[in-house]
Amino acid sequence: MTYVIAEPCVDVKDKACIEECPVDCIYEGARMLYIHPDECVDCGACEPVCPVEAIYYEDDVPDQWSSYTQSNADFFNELGSPGGASKVGQTDNDPQAIKDLEPKGE
Ligand code: SF4
Ligand code: SF4
Repeated sequence: MTYVIAEPCVDVKDKACIEECPVDCIYEGARMLYIHPDECVDCGACEPVCPVEAIYYEDDVPDQWSSYTQSNADFFNELGSPGGASKVGQTDNDPQAIKDLEPKGE
């Protein structure tokens, strides 16, 4: 099991969650952040600090955002399991489903 970042993070990315993760498994794409499903240790530390409530335990992801569980996993198809986000830094390899989203805001 893992925690999942969902739609509210898209185009927000304030990165408060990164500071809390003890295993550095929250990675940055171009439009949102993604939790590595195998590296996450389910500690829950990231969930309460997200100002837009984008982070959910896998079983608790709201139905309208259920596809984000797959999107978080898909982000790592190219990246694999680097074992730490800080050494990877920002990437521009959002999964296609995220690239296709309409830009938020006016
Ligand atoms: S704290 Fe929330 S909005 Fe900010 S980067 Fe993390 S998941 Fe995205
Ligand atoms: S639940 Fe814990 S290990 Fe998993 S992403 Fe959040 S802070 Fe990191």
